This record gives sequence, structure tokens and C-alpha cells, in this order.
Amino acid sequence: MSPLEYVIKTEIYQQGSITVERFMSLVLSHPKYGYYSSRDSIGGEGDFITAPEISQMFGEMLGLWALVTWQQTNGDKNLSLTEIGPGKGTLMKDILRAVKMVTDLDNKIQINLVEISQKLKLLQQAKLINYKPKWYPSISKLPHDQTIFIANEFFDALPILQVVGNNYKWYERRISLREKEPFELFFTLGPPIQIDSLPSNILNLKVTDGEIFEYSPSREITILSLAKRVENKGGAILIVDYGHNKTSIGETLQAVKNHQSHSVLENPGIADITAHVDFESLKRAVSDTNTNFFGPITQGEFLRRIGIETRAAKLLKNANSSSALKIESALKRLIDPNGMGQMFKVVAITKRGSPVPPGF
Ligand code: SAH
Repeated sequence: MSPLEYVIKTEIYQQGSITVERFMSLVLSHPKYGYYSSRDSIGGEGDFITAPEISQMFGEMLGLWALVTWQQTNGDKNLSLTEIGPGKGTLMKDILRAVKMVTDLDNKIQINLVEISQKLKLLQQAKLINYKPKWYPSISKLPHDQTIFIANEFFDALPILQVVGNNYKWYERRISLREKEPFELFFTLGPPIQIDSLPSNILNLKVTDGEIFEYSPSREITILSLAKRVENKGGAILIVDYGHNKTSIGETLQAVKNHQSHSVLENPGIADITAHVDFESLKRAVSDTNTNFFGPITQGEFLRRIGIETRAAKLLKNANSSSALKIESALKRLIDPNGMGQMFKVVAITKRGSPVPPGF
């Protein structure tokens, strides 16, 4: 049994069943044994691959987006960029390359990185050392400065709660432990949930026996805290993630190991666990702030509108035949509906009154 599995099973043994939210946070963010702190997760040799690891074009386009949005919201003061969940540091490196191609801001860029994994922090350090980034363990520790927030595949890693429909009521879905060897983990039902503790629009959804509904207070609190910063200081937020436009019923919790689906409860901590982002719930969470919410639009649409095909054409001009093939296939993967183009969505948030950011 891995140390993390031991931690989880001991907690259940001592205190009783735990929520899916508690399980996800232990698996992903346990300070010592959590998935992000202990494994090489991202990239061809890891468990999953993200857009910046597919092609430099992704980060370059986001860099140009950030620069234009900064100028729209701020004029010519020093650029400040804050990435949340920077992975291997590839996205920020590509962003900065693009920014440097079109400006001489070089020494005037402030980079903040929010990262929980010490292991990934070391990789980020190696890639970004010349830019002297500052690291923060959580959003609440960030300075209250004007900045452009960027989060690619971060929200899907924040924990969710699940409820299961039964006889016109919703019951909390929890994780428990068998009493006999090999003490397996299993899903169980907790007490019925008061309808007023669930997101308000669940009232419009039909309760069907056995159906699962997912929601995430943690994601809503996170987006609200970012939106409040934008409301007070200006700047903008750009979020890219996989998920759905509208709140809906259905289970999306999934574990992935070596690019393959993996059982959520088996060997916790050796696979990545995520759930799709409900973009409507993010929009609802910030609806009382003095901000505008743009999107969601698909990643394919967004990247096309901000010019990724022109960038690819430019790279293709100087490429030999093998790199040309790579560029073409990466472009397709990023924007094609059969790749990441449809499933991944993009949203932006700016202070009310600022111009519409590029792509929306
Ligand atoms: N944006 C990167 C990595 C995505 S993976 C890319 O596109 O390649 C998710 C990232 O978020 C990892 O860097 C992980 O360590 C970080 N992370 C996950 N949960 C976090 C949390 N609660 N606080 C800060 N960082 C977190």
C-alpha cells in the first residue's frame, strides 16, 4: 500500500467515510504524498499532455493575448503576469518569448507563479530563472497588484463534490472502506442533502435515480477571489480548461495514468484525478462582482480568432519537412474538434467598462 493510500484509509477508519472533495484534495494536494508533489505527471512520458506541451504556438498566442489585454486595460505601465498551476513552466516560457518578440519590456515584466508542488516548482525554476519569477503557495498569498491571471488546466484539478439522485432526493456521494482484507475503498451514499445547500439551478434539473450531479465550491471560491482582485485592481483573467458550457447532470470525475483511463479508487495517488469544469457555475459565482465575463468559447475558435493559423504558417515557412509535419499535426490537435478544439473552452474576465479582450 502506498503511503498516500495509507493516509486516506487511516482517515476513513478513524473518522468514517469522506466526501469526494476530501478524497480529491488528499490525492492531488497532500503536501508530501499528493499526486502533483510526488509524480512526473505532465507530458508525453507523464500521465497526461497539456496544450503548451503539444506546441509552443499555444503559449505564444496566449502571450500576445495577455500583452494586448494588458495594454487595453492598463496602458504602458510594467507588465505583470500571474500563472496559476504553471506545470512544467512551458506555457509561461512561451508566453514570454512571444511578448519579447513584439516589445522591449524585457526587464519590466513581473512574473508571479502559484504552485503547490515543490517538484514542479523546481522545473519552473529551471525554465524561467532569467525572469526572476516569484512563487506563491496559494492565490490568497499573492500581492494585490494589477495583473493578468492565466490558468490552463488548473480548475479541473480543484476538488468537486458529488450527489446521487434517489427517490426525488439528492444524497451525498462518499468514499468508505471495506471492513475485511484487502480493505478496499468503495463509493457509498451519505445522508440526503438539503436542496438549499446545492447550487440554485439544480432545481431546474430532474432528479433521476442513480444519476450523479457534480459541483465545486472550491472552484467557485477560487474564481470569485480572482474576480474580486480584477474588480479592485483591473487586469484580466484567462481560463482554459475542458468542460461544459451549461450546468448539467452526469459524472465526469476521472483518473488518468499513462494517457489511459484508470480506476478512481484504486491505488490513489498514482493517477491524476480531475473532473470537467462547469463554466456556467463559474459565471454564476462572479455574477455579483463588477466584472464582465466573456465566453465560454471553444479553444479552437479562440485560437483561430487570435491568429494561430497565421503563426503556424510563419513557422512552416522556416521548417524542414519533418518539423513541418509536427507543426501541422500540433495545430490540428489544438484546434480540431476531434482534438482539443471543442472539448476545451476559454473564458475571460475583465473589470466592467474595459474593452472586449481579443478573441471574444
Ligand atoms: N498549466 C500547466 C499545468 C496543468 S496541471 C499546463 O498547462 O501544462 C495543474 C497544475 O496546477 C500543476 O502545476 C499543479 O501542481 C498545480 N496545482 C494543482 N492544484 C493546485 C492548487 N490547489 N494550488 C496551486 N497549484 C495547484
